[in-house]
Amino acid sequence: MRMSWKTCSQTFSRCIAALVICCRSVYQNIPDRSSRPWATRLIGNDKFTETTILKRFPTVFMLLLVGASFGQTPSADRINRHINWLASDKMQGRGTGSPENAKAAAYIVRQFRKVGLKPLGTDGFYQPFTAKVRRVVVTDSLRKANNVIGFLNNDAPYTIVIGAHYDHLGMGKQGSSLAEKPEGQIHNGADDNASGVAGLLELARYYATNDVKEPYNLLFMAFGAEELGLQGSRYFLNQPTLPLTNLNFMICMDMIGRYNPERGVGIGGYGTSETWPQVFKGVESPIKFFTDRAGNGGSDNAAFYARQIPVLFFHTGGHPDYHKPTDDPDKIDAQAEEQILKLCIRLLDNAMQQPKMTFTAVK
Ligand SMILES: [Zn+2]
Repeated sequence: MRMSWKTCSQTFSRCIAALVICCRSVYQNIPDRSSRPWATRLIGNDKFTETTILKRFPTVFMLLLVGASFGQTPSADRINRHINWLASDKMQGRGTGSPENAKAAAYIVRQFRKVGLKPLGTDGFYQPFTAKVRRVVVTDSLRKANNVIGFLNNDAPYTIVIGAHYDHLGMGKQGSSLAEKPEGQIHNGADDNASGVAGLLELARYYATNDVKEPYNLLFMAFGAEELGLQGSRYFLNQPTLPLTNLNFMICMDMIGRYNPERGVGIGGYGTSETWPQVFKGVESPIKFFTDRAGNGGSDNAAFYARQIPVLFFHTGGHPDYHKPTDDPDKIDAQAEEQILKLCIRLLDNAMQQPKMTFTAVK
């Protein structure tokens, strides 16, 4: 359930009131009150109500309110915090089946819960499945994996999927590392794809707290086992937790943290619906971006494209640290990622003014 802004500010003012009343009663039980005149000035001895508190602390209250309302748009600070957490050495590269991969999933669950998304997995926010390592021969080829699924219900007939994978290459023992001797090295995966997860969490926070009931529902999904061949997104599409016919389109973010001002951010999938040109019309951004018609490559968007669902795929491009232990958080451009997410919000808002899209195959 979503709390309206009004309910939220009322709850907030009640919390402040309760806190002050609490402090006041503690203070009144201190015997030598006269030696603390500042406290008498601050709390007073008159009858306390929410109104007196709001009269006494109008500036503080307003600042807190303003802070709360503007704090919800994507911020470079929070993007950095998410990436530093997910791609730190102690997360051991979030390899599928590892305890650290499960910790990353739990982190996403906490964030989804915090902003008030509704669980839409099969076990709360989790959709567990078994992933299989196929590229290399290992004794533990079957591994426990999870998708993490949160729903923003706007009581609309159709739903938009926003997704990013959270797994990476772990300690380099699951194939696809480009390091010379990958085994035993932490593949942090800051750009691939802690950056996309940070984007997912920021968009979830924005839409869950903006106090607008959009004309579409939003399904936020963190996919597991993408690095083993899009296994999380394919599992979801085979075992969907809501009817696939209700899906309007899918937005995928994979590697959006290494913005290169010469290249710009690439947005794939432009050809997957005839509606996209209208959505992009007049959209401007302080960062450079370009579109690409293809929607069937790169990441989990390919699995949705294969099911004839229109997609958009955000990507800041390849770099020498791709799939190597050097894909580290200090190389992320969080300021640019903030702008990419704001661009994504502009596009989403425009897309939500359009009727449900029709899929077009890209030749
Ligand atoms: Zn990736």
